Amino acid sequence: MHYRLLPALCALALLFSACGTASPASGEQERSLGFFAMDTYMNIRAWSADEALPAELEAVALDLEARLSVTREDSEVARLNREGSAQLSEDTAGLLRRALALCAETGGALDVTVYPVVRAWGFTLGEEDRAVPPPEELAELLSRVDYRAVTLEGNRAALPAGAELDLGAVAKGYTGDRMAAALRDAGVQHALLDLGGNIHTLGTKPDGSDWHVAIQDPRGEGLLGVLSVSDRAVITSGGYERYFVDENGELWWHIMDPATGYPARNGLISVTVVGGEGLVCDALSTALFVMGPERASEFWRAHRDWDVELVLVTENGTVLLTPGLSDRFSLSSGDYGIQVIPDG
Ligand code: ADP
Ligand code: MG
Repeated sequence: MHYRLLPALCALALLFSACGTASPASGEQERSLGFFAMDTYMNIRAWSADEALPAELEAVALDLEARLSVTREDSEVARLNREGSAQLSEDTAGLLRRALALCAETGGALDVTVYPVVRAWGFTLGEEDRAVPPPEELAELLSRVDYRAVTLEGNRAALPAGAELDLGAVAKGYTGDRMAAALRDAGVQHALLDLGGNIHTLGTKPDGSDWHVAIQDPRGEGLLGVLSVSDRAVITSGGYERYFVDENGELWWHIMDPATGYPARNGLISVTVVGGEGLVCDALSTALFVMGPERASEFWRAHRDWDVELVLVTENGTVLLTPGLSDRFSLSSGDYGIQVIPDG
């Protein structure tokens, strides 16, 4: 009886070996490339027969940077900010449409018009030029912050006087999605994209096991823990990435609370979002950081159909995990305790 299964099993085995890492016949092997884009170091590892693929992905990232960067004078976003209205490319308009919807969905915790405030704090400049702005200045700038005032008709965007757009909180997540899509189109089944700590995993590792993605300890030099995932984006916003310490020894970071004009200090020091789409994960990593642990947990419960999982790190040393990650996260640091966020 069983011997009749044998040919089928052999065929399956062949199929798997053809997808495996060392497949000299197809020429498939690890192709890697590191480069600088979007103010960060990006690294690509893709298992493919096509030697030129990593350079094509680099071109995707550089092209999106050229169009989305708020600081590059010739970008679409800079032109919109300068001229108050602009005809956008299909990609940029599509990203803006999604970003505005996410601003609304997060109740303005994500606000793509917070840029004047970010600039006033000096986060677009070097560390020595960062300082706490005077409250009157912040109040004036805050009056210009409101994503609801951005209009998008077709691909034509317009801003009210004084408002400025910054897609920095979502651009890297979107770029990772575009790079992953290019890999899928090329038939790649295993890849790891690292966009400055924003991780996109495509499929599993070539041996069929999950990728291990490290999360940085927001209070120290080492690791907080490791996530086991496949075919997911893992995107972190942390207070430790870009910050300065003022003359009173107080620490201020680059994630703003659009409700106050001050860096968000609502109980979280790091937020990791795991999900199928980098754009959504990137938007939520910023927005949930702003919300703080209770509102973030509530948001997650109200959006179970988004199929995202969270690692929230509180300032008093608790790692809050959504239930779907309890078997996928292993804690590396002894300085934290784990709690699972109730799903009901
Ligand atoms: P990073 O780019 O460091 O990975 P984020 O994805 O959290 O981190 O994006 C932070 C960037 O987004 C900031 O540098 C700033 O330009 C912008 N930003 C800060 N706060 C907000 C906010 N509440 N909503 C939208 N954009 C924000
Ligand atoms: Mg973000």
